[in-house]
Amino acid sequence: PPAAPGVRAEVVVDLAAVRHNVRLLRAAAGSAALMTVVKADAYGHGLLAVAAAAREAGAAWLGVATVEEALALRAAGDDGPLLCWLAAPGQDYDGAVAAGVDVTAYTPAEVREVAAAARRTGVPARLQLKVDTGLSRGGATLPEWDALVAAAREARGAGEVVVTGTWSHLAAADEPDHPATGSQQGVFAAALSRARVLGLAPGLRHLANSAGTLLHPDTRLDLVRCGVATYGRHPAPEVAGPDTGPDTGPGAGLVPVMTVQGRLALTKRIRAGASVSYGHTWTAERDTTVGLVPLGYADGVPRHASSPGAGGHPAEVWVAGRRRPVVGRVCMDQLVVDLGGEELPAGTPYELFGTGHDGAPTALDWARAAGTIDYEVLTRVGGAAGADGR
Ligand code: PLP
Repeated sequence: PPAAPGVRAEVVVDLAAVRHNVRLLRAAAGSAALMTVVKADAYGHGLLAVAAAAREAGAAWLGVATVEEALALRAAGDDGPLLCWLAAPGQDYDGAVAAGVDVTAYTPAEVREVAAAARRTGVPARLQLKVDTGLSRGGATLPEWDALVAAAREARGAGEVVVTGTWSHLAAADEPDHPATGSQQGVFAAALSRARVLGLAPGLRHLANSAGTLLHPDTRLDLVRCGVATYGRHPAPEVAGPDTGPDTGPGAGLVPVMTVQGRLALTKRIRAGASVSYGHTWTAERDTTVGLVPLGYADGVPRHASSPGAGGHPAEVWVAGRRRPVVGRVCMDQLVVDLGGEELPAGTPYELFGTGHDGAPTALDWARAAGTIDYEVLTRVGGAAGADGR
């Protein structure tokens, strides 16, 4: 249903769609277990509600970036398998270790900090090791890997850690033919066999994000970590073809979870020659009507989607059954759409983006207009709304 009268803007999160997508991804994962990635407030959709829906639909694992996110889940009563992977320098691991959260080490120093937390709390830490297989982000590269494994072995020998997993992250799985995926798999296999040679069982082996899960079956291994697909966005919307395309290939049937909607704050007539918004970057060629959408970049709406849009075409908003182009610049708390002369009252419902019903705009349409990816549109708009905004 549209926003109630008086609602400026709201982020509506369809938890039934989360459950549907999680079930779809569980099936796509085959024999691998599914981790639902709920970092960044569940990509802007609300951490706790999404986490509960994902567990309900059978996500064996949850994944977050920070220890703080993991502890928020524990505080809300989630006691299932849970991995975090991004420590701050000097990170306090005590809470995570005591709460049975799997933590990730990139370096021997991190292993020692985790082991120290285990000594303080009196509980062996659940530790996963990250290999940098080519993303050149977190993790140990192969030359650094032996030292990381040795540190983990030592801590395990002291009864301070249990190594529950070894993992890495793919750089270009959304491009089906990109050579990085195969090369990363090769480096990962080398790291796994090296760990075994050094006397360390790797635990769960995992590599795949949403794109790996859907497009590269041989990256699924023991566990897959799906983020964006959980939220109903295909990780590789640009690929086409019956075996890979978002409409026909794996991942077809994902349902978008987030709708951003509200009521127009104002509508008015403007004359031909009138310019709209800061900098007067758009001028009406004929007499028209415009509507004021009370959302702007402080709400996470990309300013790059200002007309004509970084992507070369304007972003559009769904009003009264049609797409209406954004005209002029997106402001801090408002933007203007061209209603094409149609007389619509203030308070008319609008939808910024949602499921794409009837051809209405999606987060991907907004991303394309702004020259970015839908991950960013979702996390920014949803994140700005905050947990109370929905
Ligand atoms: N695994 C890790 C370590 C991540 O950082 C992320 C998010 O970027 C994911 C998995 C999920 O990726 P995606 O949203 O592409 O499925």
